Amino acid sequence: MTKAADFRKRFYPDVSAREWNDWRWQLKNRLTTAEQIGRLFELTEPERTALSMPDSFPTAITPYYASLLADSPLRKTMLPSPAEKTVGAGETPDPLGEEPCMVADGLVHRYPDRVLFLTTHYCSAYCRYCTRSRLVGRHAARAEPMKDRWEKAFAYIAAHPEVRDVLVSGGDPLTMADETLDYLLGRLRAIKHVEMIRIGSKVPAVLPMRITPALMKTIRKHHPVYFSLHFTHPDEMTPETAKACERIADAGVLSGSQTVLLKGVNDDAETLKKLMHELLKHRVRPYYLFQCDPIEGSMHFRVPVAKGIELINALRGHTSGYAVPTYAIDIPGGGGKIIVADQRCVGRDGAFLLLKNFENDIYRYPDPVE
Ligand SMILES: *Cc1c(COP(=O)(O)O)cnc(C)c1O
Repeated sequence: MTKAADFRKRFYPDVSAREWNDWRWQLKNRLTTAEQIGRLFELTEPERTALSMPDSFPTAITPYYASLLADSPLRKTMLPSPAEKTVGAGETPDPLGEEPCMVADGLVHRYPDRVLFLTTHYCSAYCRYCTRSRLVGRHAARAEPMKDRWEKAFAYIAAHPEVRDVLVSGGDPLTMADETLDYLLGRLRAIKHVEMIRIGSKVPAVLPMRITPALMKTIRKHHPVYFSLHFTHPDEMTPETAKACERIADAGVLSGSQTVLLKGVNDDAETLKKLMHELLKHRVRPYYLFQCDPIEGSMHFRVPVAKGIELINALRGHTSGYAVPTYAIDIPGGGGKIIVADQRCVGRDGAFLLLKNFENDIYRYPDPVE
């Protein structure tokens, strides 16, 4: 029996496997209060306090994901902490400076050839370190697709032939109904110069039952579609999530994972390596490892960049290149993503470049001097 199935029997004895595996049931029964969560596992005093703090970013956890949390570091990513009320230096509500780059309602155009399309403000579960906590989860109690607000974005993309890549995000687009996604992807596909569509989602980790054969049938109508999936910790790779990843790959969707480096959650080399290996086993290619964005009240999650570089160094060369994501910082103020890495060119000796390998030995490489 899987951990989730065991949890269902114990805490939801009246709920059938069929209901549990229905993603709409999971959304309807999300846990949002201390009372609901406290029924499932013992809350600490700080957690209890944080859950009753006014004006906080909402808490919402699918019953499925709750089944993984009690004894996992993932718990910190879902349950609020009083530390969220401390705003650290440089922390802002819109750390990536997306608002000034909004070219239409929900459409961010920062890079020359691609756009970020925020299609819904709803997620099935809310990450405490959410970079868009200024937008998501505030209003909609249910997945309200902002269909009427998409027209201006479609018009902008259609009028800008340089846009060849549309990153559909939110909120979590995979919380929308199949028909709504079909409509959205169809409208984007109808624009001739849109070469590829990406969907950003955490659904395979927090609501894997959403990845139904019908959903994947809908998605594959609109190929090439890529998924950018949010994964945090190897505890997420349950049999349920593994199956979801396999369905995604079998539908011909290429998936990259995006992981946020989080203090006390995944900031050690063994945990990261295990996560990357689990992802590759299920045909998800590690894409980015992100430094945690300076959203207000996120200081307790941030790991020094020097440590992040150390962690990436523990992967590069020590395991498959496919298992090594690109370590990046999305620079505050709208600078965009930059890659951070150790300097491997450590000097020059005449016609030779001095290079430091993964074991920190120095090698010579003949490099033409112009
Ligand atoms: C991250 C991001 C993208 C996509 O960047 P890639 O490096 O191509 O994955 C596009 N637009 C915005 C505004 C982004 O933040």
